[in-house]
Amino acid sequence: APKAHPVSSEPRRIQTDIERTLGLVRRLDTEKGIQGNVLSSGDHEKSDVDKSHMGSMGPIVIVRGLTTVKGLEGVELLDTLLTYLWRIHGVDYYGMSETNEAKGLRHVRTDNKTPSTTNINAADWEKKLDTYWQERLTGQDPMVILTAKDKIDAAAAEVLEPHVRKIRDEKYGWKYGCGAKGCTKLFHAPEFVYKHLRLKHPEIVLEVTSNLREDIYSQNYM
Ligand SMILES: [Zn+2]
Repeated sequence: APKAHPVSSEPRRIQTDIERTLGLVRRLDTEKGIQGNVLSSGDHEKSDVDKSHMGSMGPIVIVRGLTTVKGLEGVELLDTLLTYLWRIHGVDYYGMSETNEAKGLRHVRTDNKTPSTTNINAADWEKKLDTYWQERLTGQDPMVILTAKDKIDAAAAEVLEPHVRKIRDEKYGWKYGCGAKGCTKLFHAPEFVYKHLRLKHPEIVLEVTSNLREDIYSQNYM
């Protein structure tokens, strides 16, 4: 499997990553409508209070099985969270990527005695990792953005239709002309006109799709 930067194995980094992955689990579960996940339920909040007299460094998640109660913390907790994010949400945390299903290999931690195989220095790598997931935590679900984009494209074709001139050609059958003022371009299919409109007359496309964009975004996020 591809390796994360060795700095990922430092105890300080482990704690940061526990907090971050807990946040991600909550956020992604919410986005996908997953409720009652033991990994992100209230239990570890309570243990945050305990940590002062237990001397623990960070959150503990209490996992209650049918006959067992287990407290997860530190590396064990982090690995559980990372595995959950990977299997359920397709998140390769150290690889800084997210897909709709877990495919291939995700990045794994190496112990920090292994010589680094990367030239990137630790601080840069950490900054990249932090920025990437902080943006994910405050931004929008990339899968939703993708869907919205598809919807916009599909709907754009509809609203662009009036800008396509259908022309009967004696020799070649139906032709599709660009409806922009002063433009005489002809195409074999309406899709080519849409494409041409996007490339050559972006102002038309922008005008007819601006309302559409607002509609779709408000449908998705309001
Ligand atoms: Zn044109």
